Amino acid sequence: MTRIAIVGVAGRMGRTLVNAVEQDAGATLAGGVVEPGSSLAGVDIGELAGIGKKGVAAVDSLEALADDVEVLIDFTAPKVTLSNLAFCAEHGKRMVIGTTGMSDDEIAELDGFRNRVPMVFAPNMSVGVNLTLKLLQTAAKALGDEGYDIEVIESHHRHKVDAPSGTALKMGEVVAESLGRNLKEHGVFERVGQCGPRSDKEIGFATVRAGDIVGEHTVMFATEGERIEITHKASSRMTFAKGAVRAARWVADKDSGRYDMQDVLGLGD
Ligand code: NAD
Repeated sequence: MTRIAIVGVAGRMGRTLVNAVEQDAGATLAGGVVEPGSSLAGVDIGELAGIGKKGVAAVDSLEALADDVEVLIDFTAPKVTLSNLAFCAEHGKRMVIGTTGMSDDEIAELDGFRNRVPMVFAPNMSVGVNLTLKLLQTAAKALGDEGYDIEVIESHHRHKVDAPSGTALKMGEVVAESLGRNLKEHGVFERVGQCGPRSDKEIGFATVRAGDIVGEHTVMFATEGERIEITHKASSRMTFAKGAVRAARWVADKDSGRYDMQDVLGLGD
């Protein structure tokens, strides 16, 4: 049984993760962490998740879990995740990181822990999305530079704080890489006013924020005469949570390194 602690346990994903660990036969709830000073410290994490007492009280400091836990699952915010990585390096713990919205500098800082912490870092832990990334790679390679315009459209709930989503960016990167393009050069994230016609090689992004949409992504390959759309729709956060618990079980016996969900699912090249 992999002993898991959930950081950000009071959040939308945190509460869903409590459910997912509870339902997983190979994992057990060893702890839950809330923000320092939170009034939720001491509350049973099962009650936080709405599934009744589980005998595990939320704590507001990781130090309290140093002896108890093998893998941290962290869906919080970039700075919190980076400080938790330092804790894992110091205490020999493993980490599954779902946090999105990291800057390039923050990703470089995260990467600096790859020789000291076994970690799975993925902007989207859903098995379906990771299969979709594989399909996108295949589509981009097959269509090649043959005049297909590529656009990525994503929709999420009104509370999401970063845009475009980490998943949309990852989709753009996979497509760009398959076509030998650099997303930093060819990504177009805003079109407003007299912006002129699109260029051949640009990869455009459009963002929708509305209501309670869990997460939808479409990548469009459009040319004269046809349009191919590859779409993934998440209908519940459980899909991300189940993937994260699967990643936690997988990373429990891995050496230090930075892995992603393609590694966890055996979908790598
Ligand atoms: P949320 O705001 O509901 O939850 C974040 C939680 O982190 C909050 O409860 C907050 O109190 C807590 N937190 C902040 N600082 C903390 C600290 N120092 N210690 C412990 N807890 C702390 O947000 P959410 O919708 O659950 O999303 C969280 C992150 O996960 C976002 O970056 C989101 O984009 C990402 N996300 C990733 C995936 C994926 O599959 N990788 C899926 C969904 C969401």
